[in-house]
Amino acid sequence: MGRAGTWLAVLLATELTATAVRPSSGVVAPAEFLGYEPGKQFTRHERLVTYFDRVAGASDRVQVRVYGRTFENRRLLVAFVGSEANIRKLDELAEGWRTLASPEATSETEAEGLALKLPALVWLSFNVHGNEPSPSETALELLYWLATAENDTARLIRENVVVAIDPCLNPDGRERYVEWFRSVVGKHPNPDPNSAEHVEPWPGGRLNHYYFDLNRDWVWQTQRETRQRVAVFLAYRPQVHVDFHEMGYNETYFFFPATKPANVFLPRTTLDWAMRFGRGNAAFFDARGWEYYTRENFDLFYPGYGDTYPSLQGAVGMTYEQAGHSRAGLVVRRSDGTLLTLRQRIDHHFTAAVATLWTAARERQRLLLDTYRFWRSALTRAFPASAYVLLPGLEPDRVAELADLLLRQGVRVGRATKPFRVREGFDYLGQRVRDCNVPAGAIVVPVHQPEARLVATLMEPEVAMPDTFFYDITAWCLPLAFGVRGIRARKCKGLELRWLSEAPWPKGHVEAHGQRTFAYLVPWAQDGAPRLLYELLAKGARVRVARKPFVNSGIRCCRGTLVVPATQPESFRSDTSLAELVAAWSRRLRLHVHAVPTGLSEEGPDLGSDAMPLLRLPKIGVLTGSPASATCYGSIWFLLDHELGIPFAALPVQRFRSVDLSRYDVLVFPDDYAGGRRWKAKLDSTALARLRDWIDAGGVFVGIKGGAALATQEVGKLCQVHLLREKKPGKNAKKGEANEKPREQLLHTVEQREHERRLQRVPGSILRALVDTTHVLAFGYGGELMTLKTSGLLFARTTRGDNVVVYPEKARVSGYLSTKALKKTAGTPYLLVERRGRGRVVLFVDDPNFRLFWRGLTRLFLNALFFGQIV
Ligand SMILES: [Zn+2]
Repeated sequence: MGRAGTWLAVLLATELTATAVRPSSGVVAPAEFLGYEPGKQFTRHERLVTYFDRVAGASDRVQVRVYGRTFENRRLLVAFVGSEANIRKLDELAEGWRTLASPEATSETEAEGLALKLPALVWLSFNVHGNEPSPSETALELLYWLATAENDTARLIRENVVVAIDPCLNPDGRERYVEWFRSVVGKHPNPDPNSAEHVEPWPGGRLNHYYFDLNRDWVWQTQRETRQRVAVFLAYRPQVHVDFHEMGYNETYFFFPATKPANVFLPRTTLDWAMRFGRGNAAFFDARGWEYYTRENFDLFYPGYGDTYPSLQGAVGMTYEQAGHSRAGLVVRRSDGTLLTLRQRIDHHFTAAVATLWTAARERQRLLLDTYRFWRSALTRAFPASAYVLLPGLEPDRVAELADLLLRQGVRVGRATKPFRVREGFDYLGQRVRDCNVPAGAIVVPVHQPEARLVATLMEPEVAMPDTFFYDITAWCLPLAFGVRGIRARKCKGLELRWLSEAPWPKGHVEAHGQRTFAYLVPWAQDGAPRLLYELLAKGARVRVARKPFVNSGIRCCRGTLVVPATQPESFRSDTSLAELVAAWSRRLRLHVHAVPTGLSEEGPDLGSDAMPLLRLPKIGVLTGSPASATCYGSIWFLLDHELGIPFAALPVQRFRSVDLSRYDVLVFPDDYAGGRRWKAKLDSTALARLRDWIDAGGVFVGIKGGAALATQEVGKLCQVHLLREKKPGKNAKKGEANEKPREQLLHTVEQREHERRLQRVPGSILRALVDTTHVLAFGYGGELMTLKTSGLLFARTTRGDNVVVYPEKARVSGYLSTKALKKTAGTPYLLVERRGRGRVVLFVDDPNFRLFWRGLTRLFLNALFFGQIV
């Protein structure tokens, strides 16, 4: 141990404990407030936030800001802690931090002046994963220590740093874990990892109320918690963000620097700072003799994480991982025989937090100035494009949704006030480069703006990356994910913009095409159409869907257009007239509806034709519980329940045998993470036979990924589809003279095999797919769509049914996929359907609702629910 180490050891022994505080501070200690020493029990969320209130009430060094509520109505808050003087003028300081993030309005000299006098803002986020519970317990002690400790370290931090503590990012998930744990633990916690208190039941506390992983949602903001958090985060513009997690209990401790790959648009300084914080943390851990590691497992690539996203927003974003997790309970015996306690887990996180604050405090000025330079250099560095153009017309609602997502993150979005010319424009959907004219009204995201790094990350068709390990998906390009027409422009000529203050939502209305109304026509490509369809069917209305294109009253209608006759039968029950109902919902859903005066079409079928079958309200059941993937189920739950308000029965797997299936028209089987094998293990032959009988009688089986694999011949035999199997290597391997092979090939080393395994993974990449636009399941789509492939699962083409969406050769558009894996996908279906008896089996090889940010595929899933019966 060097001199610095010795000094640190002394510092740690005397200063770095929660009890090293002024007894007369007037702030109640956690143990006194809780009635137990932190680490002895898990703290309920209500107690956690009440403690934060109490400390804020008693200390001028703490200010609490409630920034929102969870789905289960728990409070989300952030506490700002610092010297009395700093906390008193917090709003003024926030103005200063925002000024540093405004490079156009702030000169280098002004920034230097600000860096001289401003404290740094370090944002600490705890417990984004609910069943990684030591972070929130750490937050309690950290708040107390920062507010009350009277020693050099605490004073240094308070004077130079304002610490934002978000004690729990995912209260609903954490509470799910904590309440469960409290219900199973005895008077004496059992360290045996096999005992019940270490084995959490489905779905576990990791996810939020709707089973979304909030540490994948920062950028998409599909969840209420994320949306509210990002808003408050961006209002303060912190310079450092740490996301506190837990990992497997046999590990040690992880802090930054991260492993590769890092986002290519991040400046060198972000990575340098991570290194500097890592060194500071290492010194604190070395002094205590605690083991740790860096530069492995956790990367800075996927923008939905709590490290990459804040990094793109100007903070040094980092993830810290302590060994623990729900598998560790209050105490667990590790495989090396030692015990790991909650107390130790808190100590480690506490020390890492203080070490980080210590580094920030000592290098405050440089940190603030580098943040300013982060933003300034965004205006000067080279980017692959000058603007991203979204073309109005076909999907105005989804263009608006995309613009809304960008505006919420501080990105500038404008509308072209006159036509302009694009040079070297890359057409996202057409996948080709061309020059073109763009009409006035196009939505444009220029790259020259402080948020350029985030813009390029989200809008580039492909974010460059080396061949390496990925912790998550490798492609997410927003125009592709949203399925909107857009152009990435290398150069624009004659571009003039008016900035948007809010998203360009289309105004819904009913357009009358005559004096009277015979029927309403609703183009199906609009995102609000499925909701209106549900509303009408639920009220007993007759609604038809056009299987063929037609022209009526001069309106050219695509397949999938809904036809709602103005004269409804008695079964239609509504408080308002049909006209009022359609008018109200078209405004609410931003739908363009046509009111036509006649049933007689100029071209194609008339409105009473057989080619316009009547639709029935589908009674939907979705399988839930183990082995269903909680996130796959959760995205269906959120989509139907929260976004669309379409009721469905969540059917617990364990009761499947006793459920009267005849009550449901559609059954959805989510992924099982195991290519259908875990479904098969759960459903015995009787259950599968009942499922077959139900399909024969007219049921629509919708399988997603593993849920779809269940239906194949190799697994549950619900239809004739086969899994596409891996060809066994062997024959070709014998070719060539053995003695000519290099050493590596002969040995086939451990490292080589690891490398090959990595290359064969399908971590999540964008694949183009061809669409049979004449098929009912594809209504609302053009000839191609973009899919996200997240596994190696593939189906052989069906010969008895319809291959509705199929991967072409060279399907890869963006993200990592090995040449071998790519070859295998060519010609295989993404979506297929087979008939069985009077029923249907609809199979998605991948999840169209993945994290629910891939908005371009949501319709495909809804088509299966609404139109499955008329395939
Ligand atoms: Zn985690």
